[in-house]
Amino acid sequence: MIARPPLSRWSYRHVLDLAAFSQEDYATVLELASRFRALPMSGPRRLPALQGRLVTTLFFEPSTRTRSSFELAARRLSADVQSFSPASSALAKGESLLDTARTYVAMGADVLVVRHRCAGVPAELARDLEAAGCRTAVLNAGDGLHSHPSQALLDLFTLARHFNPETPTLEALAGKRIVIVGDVLHSRVARSNLWSLTACGVDVVLCGPASLLPDAFAQFTHAPPPGQAQDLVAQRGSLRIERDLDRALEGADAVMTLRLQQERMKEQLITSLEAYHQRYGLSHRRLERCGKSVPVLHPGPVNRGVELSGELLDDPSRSLVEEQVRNGIPVRMALLYLMAASEPASSAAGLS
Ligand code: ASP
Repeated sequence: MIARPPLSRWSYRHVLDLAAFSQEDYATVLELASRFRALPMSGPRRLPALQGRLVTTLFFEPSTRTRSSFELAARRLSADVQSFSPASSALAKGESLLDTARTYVAMGADVLVVRHRCAGVPAELARDLEAAGCRTAVLNAGDGLHSHPSQALLDLFTLARHFNPETPTLEALAGKRIVIVGDVLHSRVARSNLWSLTACGVDVVLCGPASLLPDAFAQFTHAPPPGQAQDLVAQRGSLRIERDLDRALEGADAVMTLRLQQERMKEQLITSLEAYHQRYGLSHRRLERCGKSVPVLHPGPVNRGVELSGELLDDPSRSLVEEQVRNGIPVRMALLYLMAASEPASSAAGLS
């Protein structure tokens, strides 16, 4: 059983952007995810926590992991689950996105889990629902290039568990050096990771070609995003750019690699996949530069042989990719639990 969940420390109705998270918020999610992860995997797997609640997934963009992980997480908490697919919906008949969302709210949705290719759609939906006096919570499951909070939280949990399996807390992460390599420009995962990792005292090294990693990213966490008054984290870990992967890897404690998001590239930003792999691809040999055995993470889907070699991806002693997928369930259970089971005082993480 989950004893005394730390709801008293949770103050949000919506989760839209980790830029608005405090260290206490991260600690709350990690603590609850650890408890959910520790539940026995055999026997009845459902907790009654969200019985009678309705979780609706509204995915306007494809997803393999995130959607099914949220739906499984909701079912493990005994929520009813409803999913929307754009192809077979009234969107094709001209219904607006807000009206589609309101339709699900009218059916009783307590939480809308929303993915959209445009940045800001989940926040707009949250504002619309607030203005209409609805108590439905909105959880951002990835919006354009902006934010993917649940992915960054599961990455954080996976890293904390790797560094300290018994006690995966913020302390397990403080002072670690983590390299994020690849297509940072098109990655909402990297943007969310920059907020979460630096909040937990991680020193982040970004690596990639200038076409996929503009210099401005070195300032990414220096100011809260537009509309947010202040950064709730007093002292963040450092952030720097290193263009040479071998130099970036020196002394690293973990490496996160990102997919080349060719579907979002409006022009040719790399010369060839082979050349990219040569310069920025990970392999066992490349990782020797770290000077110790370090884990590799990737949010998926992976371009095998591009971001990392097939051998590395399939090596369970180095690759945490499947562990990330596993950890997605307790982390999303934690988020749904916090959002659907609490009566928040304020309204949103990331709603300006
Ligand atoms: N699955 C992640 C996302 O939706 C990463 C990716 O697509 O490369 O952002």
